Amino acid sequence: MSNPLFLLIVLAFFIFYWVYYCDGRKRANRAGWQALPTREQYLAQHPDALVDDQIACHHCHHRDLQAQGLVHLADFRHQYVCPHCHQVLFRTQ
Ligand SMILES: [Zn+2]
Repeated sequence: MSNPLFLLIVLAFFIFYWVYYCDGRKRANRAGWQALPTREQYLAQHPDALVDDQIACHHCHHRDLQAQGLVHLADFRHQYVCPHCHQVLFRTQ
């Protein structure tokens, strides 16, 4: 009898926790993302990172960088990460 009410309370708790957690995560990520250099700034700082029209990691010289959305996959704010040494290198808008 009280099972649906219990489930409703648990669901409300998880929704509140998820929204609260995601909001804090978005703020932290946004500040870190804005501190990253842009693609042009990265190439200006590390001119040797451009190899055969591909941008390489300046730490380990790995070429296949991964573009990741800031908050989720469809986010237009991307940051480029080296999958070899896991360094976040630059951002695009
Ligand atoms: Zn690397």
